[in-house]
Amino acid sequence: MIKEYIYKIKSKQITVTEAVKPFIEKCKADKKGAILEVFDSWKELAKGVDEKIQKGEPLGRLAGVPIILKDNILYKGHRAGAASKILDGFIAPYSATVVKKLLAEDAIIIARADMDEFAMGGIGRYAYQGPTKNAHSDNHHAGGSSSGSAVSVALDYCLASLGSDTAGSVRYPAALNGIVGVKPTYGAVSRYGAVAFGSNLEQIGVFAKTITDTKLVLDVISGKCEFDATSKRPPIQAAKFDGLEGLRIGRVKELYEAFLDSPFAPLYDGILDNLKKAGAKIVDISIPNVTKSINCYYALAPTQAASNLARFDGVRYGRSVDADTLAELYEKTRSEGFGTEVKRRILLGNLMLSARPEGREFNEKEISNMKHQIATEFTSAFKKVDVMIMPTGAGTAPQIGQPIDPVDDYLVDLFTVPANLSGSPAVSIPCGADENGMPLGLQIVTDLWNEELMFKIAEVLSV
Ligand code: GLN
Repeated sequence: MIKEYIYKIKSKQITVTEAVKPFIEKCKADKKGAILEVFDSWKELAKGVDEKIQKGEPLGRLAGVPIILKDNILYKGHRAGAASKILDGFIAPYSATVVKKLLAEDAIIIARADMDEFAMGGIGRYAYQGPTKNAHSDNHHAGGSSSGSAVSVALDYCLASLGSDTAGSVRYPAALNGIVGVKPTYGAVSRYGAVAFGSNLEQIGVFAKTITDTKLVLDVISGKCEFDATSKRPPIQAAKFDGLEGLRIGRVKELYEAFLDSPFAPLYDGILDNLKKAGAKIVDISIPNVTKSINCYYALAPTQAASNLARFDGVRYGRSVDADTLAELYEKTRSEGFGTEVKRRILLGNLMLSARPEGREFNEKEISNMKHQIATEFTSAFKKVDVMIMPTGAGTAPQIGQPIDPVDDYLVDLFTVPANLSGSPAVSIPCGADENGMPLGLQIVTDLWNEELMFKIAEVLSV
């Protein structure tokens, strides 16, 4: 899709300004709660690329391509708020590395998308404008936390969008809206300029409609960045893929068992059967601690969130209330500015960090040991298989208006969070729908830095 779009621009069938306009109109007419703001600056960017074309100057790989950012990614001179009232009025003083990279390739950033506040949420329930509606139904959740970014791509408000994935926030909404969503290997993409939540788990990821487009945008934003010490230059990977013949596909026993009761289990079995018929080997593997992933994540991420969010105090960023003392300023700003779920995470995180060693059920060391343990189990499993295939979620989108049980929301991460703990790349692709046409996703996970193989298999499964 992006290739054809760029071809029309390069061959001067259409100007960038004309090409982007329909996307802008769609964003402005959004009724799903996906868009927080359309950036007027798109016109300047489009004009700039049009001038380049007129002068015959070389064009970037995303020339004229309209892209939407999740509201937790900074774009210099523009509002960014992580969908939180505490950041009301905040203007980004610099651009995230990913934004600079997009602009360097002549992309047109057109809008910022709604999301669960500070990326804490599984279904888009805690978005700034209220629950984001699914692209396929106004009565269903969009999936979170990158709810608006996913809906924007599904409804063609843009050709690609960025989200962040700490436990599944790109892959899960991609699955629920019937599009492609990728979380790269931890370290592949710079987090500089993304509002931090769970720093050693999260990566910026990409949404698009095809594997080719997803791969292209991921390629543009990847790479070592001097401002993010955890970013890395990928080691050279010789992606061995000569077709499905002999390819070892792992079915993770513990996750498979958790999925057996799902009405979609036969669909998943069918996909594996077809792969087997095409020559792949289905290998049952065990990742013994994978079922502890959710517990591990909901202990680890809140501790990081509690520290990362300490900076929002009414002094430095966004919202600040009238107060007589400094303590009152902190208290009032944070009480008014943060939503319920964010407060729950901060409380939980601080509890984890401050409980006395003898009295607590977890301590940081145990939690990070568990993360390490799960990562080690993944490494051993990838000695036996080339790729793992698993559902992205247990089912299709939940209905809007159901009673809130935070723990139920946490459970939606069951199939996605393991890849954040291990650091593995994982992509969700559409793989079917329920009887009401609500989409379902399938996840392809490979070993660290093996995005090449992951995308190749995703391509085979997408035809
Ligand atoms: N459901 C996860 C959470 O609420 C999703 C986080 C994410 O990937 N940003 O923490």
